Amino acid sequence: MKLKHLEMALQRLAGFSRPRAALEQYQTPAPLAARLLYHALMKGDIEGRRVCDLGSGTGVLAVGASLLGAATVTGIEIDEAALVVARENAELLAADVAFIRADVKDGSLPGKTGVFDTVIMNPPFGAQKAHADRPFIDLALALAPVTYGVFNAGSAPFVKTYTEGRGDIAERVGGSFPIKRSFAFHTRDVQDIAVEILRLKRIS
Ligand code: SAH
Repeated sequence: MKLKHLEMALQRLAGFSRPRAALEQYQTPAPLAARLLYHALMKGDIEGRRVCDLGSGTGVLAVGASLLGAATVTGIEIDEAALVVARENAELLAADVAFIRADVKDGSLPGKTGVFDTVIMNPPFGAQKAHADRPFIDLALALAPVTYGVFNAGSAPFVKTYTEGRGDIAERVGGSFPIKRSFAFHTRDVQDIAVEILRLKRIS
């Protein structure tokens, strides 16, 4: 599947039915999701791999990984309403994803969900709750040797310090995240947020 086709397929997926600001529920835009997934595919981290999407939300990343030939895909998400949307989205594109309701802060998750080859994630940026992305980074490093995550542009130094001794930033790819007006505190119809995709390698 070509990058453009992946992006067009992901564009068809439904968004959050009742987005919750406290959980920073922003659907990963299809062009950004497709770029992350395609990049990971080219690195050999998707096809035939066991992939886990942390904070899978509407399932865009998880569904895309399945379309690109992942061996298995697991989506972990705390919000039941988001899981409903994600399961419908997977069905729409005939993707094979196991969506599980769990809190990434649950320390027993690595034992319960097993081992993965690749984590993909678009965690909360910590705009509502400071450091909301930390448990995502911690769990990602516990679950898989390689992680692709979407972060606020300029996060690399923080992530580097935070993962010191546990992981290395192997790569950084810039991107943009157009956020549509979805919460009362949004003042514009669309606001472009600069983001970066970081590829983290666990130090083993
Ligand atoms: N890739 C997703 C991005 C969703 S935004 C999509 O395109 O829809 C971040 C997601 O993380 C939200 O769905 C939110 O509900 C979820 N989340 C926030 N805190 C969480 C936690 N502690 N455990 C699991 N999921 C969480």
